[in-house]
Amino acid sequence: MHNFELAKAYTTTQARDLLAEKPNSILKAGGIDVIDHLKQHLIAPNRLVDIKSVSGLDDIDVDRDGNLRIGALVTLARVAADEDIKKDFPALAQACGEAASPQIRNVATIGGNLLQRPRCWYYRLESYKCIKKGGDTCFAIAGMNRYNVIFGGGPAYPPHPSSAAVPLVAYGASLVLEGPEGTRTVPAGEFFVLPDVDPERENTLGEGEILTEIRVPAAAGKKSAYAEVRERAGFDWPVVSAAVAVEEDGGSVKSARIVLGQVATIPWRATKAEEALVGQPLGAASAEAAGQAAVDGAEPMTDNGYKVDLVTALVRRVVASLA
Ligand SMILES: Cc1cc2nc3c(=O)[nH]c(=O)nc-3n(C[C@H](O)[C@H](O)[C@H](O)COP(=O)(O)OP(=O)(O)OC[C@H]3O[C@@H](n4cnc5c(N)ncnc54)[C@H](O)[C@@H]3O)c2cc1C
Repeated sequence: MHNFELAKAYTTTQARDLLAEKPNSILKAGGIDVIDHLKQHLIAPNRLVDIKSVSGLDDIDVDRDGNLRIGALVTLARVAADEDIKKDFPALAQACGEAASPQIRNVATIGGNLLQRPRCWYYRLESYKCIKKGGDTCFAIAGMNRYNVIFGGGPAYPPHPSSAAVPLVAYGASLVLEGPEGTRTVPAGEFFVLPDVDPERENTLGEGEILTEIRVPAAAGKKSAYAEVRERAGFDWPVVSAAVAVEEDGGSVKSARIVLGQVATIPWRATKAEEALVGQPLGAASAEAAGQAAVDGAEPMTDNGYKVDLVTALVRRVVASLA
């Protein structure tokens, strides 16, 4: 076994210094995914920098205008139970409340949730040097791809694993990142990147950067909802999820954001479905049109064609629930 240090940070500056000081240092928040990586021999860090005790990153705050700020260390359980989030950002509360299991939600942080690595079994098995681990093949192409992507795949095809990311992209949230060059704010929809840029990465988190906060613009005048389909109720990821956020004007939809989870390597904007809704009143007909349009451009692999039907039904159901 590779020996490593466990170093506790109490401020973000201390965490960044601890990261920079020793090569091959890795951040640990709740540790659910990091410890899995250690156990699966996918990482061999020299130092784990434990940020769970960093002060100032575990608050939920709604300002006078209704803008929401969530510290990166807030647990999924707290997001799900927060009364302001349940009222104004129900899709986020629901996604966090259905993720994983109660035990995991009590430990897992929202920051770590957004930054967890993919769950494709070829990636998770040490013996497969897949394209996400520096190899030259995505074994899912010719192998077992029941849970893999139907949109935007290639050269890697693992589904994006974060349940929280789906509503956050639908709400137009931004991520605040603190790094050696200062602090930057990135729209969540731009933070996650397709594998054709670099198949080993899922996002644009920079070397030595720490996610400190998630900002969600006020939900005033918007309606939103989330739903997912799972094979098992707990201890598992959804096979498909969908978050919808709409703004109405005079009885019809003025703007819409429809985001799908577990069907692409990033939270996937179903732009054709959004277009199908705009200008229409919310109801059975527009829900049907959005559901059909949501699968535009889908390219199922050999074993995951069922996801196309699930997306159609789920988007139809979520949009109809807003009517
Ligand atoms: C059985 C099971 C079922 C699950 N089901 C679901 C599900 O339905 N939906 C879902 O979304 N997830 C699910 N998960 C995944 C779980 O929710 C995530 O692993 C967890 O949310 C990660 O959060 P964490 O705080 O433990 O992160 P950690 O494991 O501590 O970190 C994860 C990654 O993020 C990095 N990191 C953490 N915090 C920061 C930060 N602030 N800044 C920069 N980098 C950081 C770490 O270095 C690491 O790379 C499941 C997990 C299990 C084991």
